[in-house]
Amino acid sequence: MALSRKPHVLVVGGSDSSGGAGIGRDIGTISALGVRTCIAVTAVTVQTHEAVLESHHLPPGLVADQMRAALQANKVAAIKIGMLATEQIIAAVAAVLRENRQIPAVLDPVLASSSGGPLLEADAIGTLTRDLMPLCRLVTPNLVELAVLAGSRPAVDDCEMLRQGQRLLDAGSQALLIKGGHATGPRSTDILVRPRQQPIRFDASRLAGSMRGTGCMLASAIAAHLANGTSLEDTVRKGKLFVFESFQKIEAA
Ligand code: PLP
Repeated sequence: MALSRKPHVLVVGGSDSSGGAGIGRDIGTISALGVRTCIAVTAVTVQTHEAVLESHHLPPGLVADQMRAALQANKVAAIKIGMLATEQIIAAVAAVLRENRQIPAVLDPVLASSSGGPLLEADAIGTLTRDLMPLCRLVTPNLVELAVLAGSRPAVDDCEMLRQGQRLLDAGSQALLIKGGHATGPRSTDILVRPRQQPIRFDASRLAGSMRGTGCMLASAIAAHLANGTSLEDTVRKGKLFVFESFQKIEAA
């Protein structure tokens, strides 16, 4: 069959048997926004909502082969990257991004599940920041991820957070959406930082309760909107609204 001409998002990440996060969430989010998906699986995880029980990593060459086949089969208009598990998988994904620099990539730098189970090997952080992040249109760390990526402790105020963000921009990142700028209180603020531009703040009511997979959903929604040609700033606004409304629907159900 010929190449599908409808815009697709290529989802690169791990499966989560609990259904809370990972590629299941990504595909659900992107499909809900009316955009098609294709996938490259990096890892199969055995998870409940309380724990990561097992994590099996796919060979890096197989991850790259899946990506190249998905790109050949479809008109991929954006790439969403989640769990990468190892340094070798990061290098394989970076190699495919280098071959496809025209396609915007959104990286959710997943380090661990909210239950605390590790999803990326600790020695892979340098490769992530040096080799992969500069190839991505947007990276979406939360405060803990930002600190680890910047080689610091979690920021205690906005100034420190912006300094950590600047360190990653200096290391080559194109744009960061730092999630949860104000870590407590009724409002949650995400901040978009880019080189030589004023930070842009996105303020919303803090979600009551907790839902897993919100990081996956936000990055996926942003990738879906990027695939439709929306500007980066507007994709963030629309992505945040989508996560907020989805959460409200789930709470109300
Ligand atoms: N499991 C997988 C495979 C993921 O990709 C992610 C996040 O992207 C998580 C777990 C973590 O999700 P949560 O923070 O909701 O536990």
